[in-house]
Amino acid sequence: MSKHVTHWIDGKPFAGTAERRGDIYNPATGEVAGTVDFAGAAEVDAAVAAARAAFPAWRDTSVTKRSAVLFRFRELLHANRDTLARAISAEHGKVVSDAFGEVSRGLEVVEFACGIPHLLKGGYSENVSTKVDAYSILQPLGVVAGITPFNFPAMVPMWMFPIAIACGNTFVLKPSEKDPSAAMLLAELWAEAGLPEGVFNVVHGDKAAVDGLLEHDDVKAVSFVGSTPIAHYIYETAARHGKRVQALGGAKNHMVVLPDADLDLAADAAVSAGFGSAGERCMAISAVVAIESIADELVERVKDRVARLRVGPGDDERSEMGPLVTGPHRDKVASYLESGVREGATLAIDGRVHPVLGGENGGFWLGPSLLDHVTPEMSCYRDEIFGPVLSLLRAPTYDAALDLVNANPYGNGTAIFTNDGGAARRFQNEVEVGMVGINVPIPVPMAFYSFGGWKASLFGDSHAHGTEGVHFYTRTKAVTARWLDPSHGGVNLGFPTNG
Ligand code: NAD
Repeated sequence: MSKHVTHWIDGKPFAGTAERRGDIYNPATGEVAGTVDFAGAAEVDAAVAAARAAFPAWRDTSVTKRSAVLFRFRELLHANRDTLARAISAEHGKVVSDAFGEVSRGLEVVEFACGIPHLLKGGYSENVSTKVDAYSILQPLGVVAGITPFNFPAMVPMWMFPIAIACGNTFVLKPSEKDPSAAMLLAELWAEAGLPEGVFNVVHGDKAAVDGLLEHDDVKAVSFVGSTPIAHYIYETAARHGKRVQALGGAKNHMVVLPDADLDLAADAAVSAGFGSAGERCMAISAVVAIESIADELVERVKDRVARLRVGPGDDERSEMGPLVTGPHRDKVASYLESGVREGATLAIDGRVHPVLGGENGGFWLGPSLLDHVTPEMSCYRDEIFGPVLSLLRAPTYDAALDLVNANPYGNGTAIFTNDGGAARRFQNEVEVGMVGINVPIPVPMAFYSFGGWKASLFGDSHAHGTEGVHFYTRTKAVTARWLDPSHGGVNLGFPTNG
């Protein structure tokens, strides 16, 4: 049965003009499973107008009542985790247990946002001058927009909207057109939780919808997560239109393995973090940098583990890794196996021949692959592959490994594997990357910290969720107050100083 996904505006589905549509695939079979409407200017205007109309009342809803809606949303999200995970798996291809994991990590941000009364407390200083008090208050911005990638259709939007909405803003989400259904399920849960109409809206589509939001006078801030070239475009365009913007980009995450590391732990980590979600994670390990003395042994241990990995449809409980998201993306990822070998790497594991549970059936399959003897000039190292291809580089020393990581233009995540506390501490101090793992391959920060990379992995100055999220979605007002009493000082043209 073919599904049809349309927009969500003012608390209900919104058909719009639907002049353009996109296909939604089942990546495990390669079949078109449905269509999604693409928004043009009219749909973007309708969503922003609904959000704008809902803003004054939502902003003035007491912070405890807003928090109560978030608590209800949290309960509904928890109860519907499995439905959401299955919807994600069907369109993205990742295995259901992995999709369940992303919903759970999004849920943690909702739980963080439930504490918004505490997070929105300003400061208060009594008697900054004689009988004069000063305080700061945090106020919402208005209508804010989120533009999100295909690889986490529930978690990444939930890095944004729970906090934005808790702060008193109204929200327009433009999810990836490749897997749009999760956003609609989330919209339905918000409605069930009692969120007033217009506070959360969804428009689907491509560049036209995105540009409509970036250029709209009534959108005050834009949060983006996606690839680096688009993140850069979003940052420049939104800033040119006077908006606050945070744009998280792509990645090339390195895992450094020192000779004293537990090699079984390192091999487990490289396989889990390289091939989980078919490598389509912004925090996936892409480059393993092994000190030369242990590189061969590490490759052998990775091979052992990969041989046992079960690749298959996301809804097959036996599967550990699903297909890639689209046919063109699978082909592009596979092309790095050829270019890697052409440029001098060794294909230690060829994912093109990895068996698929139940057969390939036209799906977008590529098994886990390992390119060994990779060097920094090769395109498989320079580009973000975003698929199940690990590159192994050999470094003579810790310093050479660190230099490699720091010379890379991306700076999203990295990890070091070692049993030497001093080396780990040096790495944590010296590495130019936003999120660092020590014997932890995917160091995604908890909801009460903030998520964000450095260098080409982030444009803007604030990371997602945690207190940086609260900061991004509010502006501070500083108030200086004096309540009149019988004695006051008369006219004084001097600049205010305390006294
Ligand atoms: P993408 O950049 O192609 O798309 C992201 C969003 O931008 C989508 O909503 C898409 O519709 C929109 N978009 C695409 N092209 C556009 C254009 N020309 N103009 C305006 N909008 C456009 O990314 P993707 O393929 O959906 O996701 C994978 C990428 O996202 C990878 O590079 C990955 O590293 C990155 N990512 C980064 C993080 C992070 O936290 N840094 C998290 C998840 C994913």
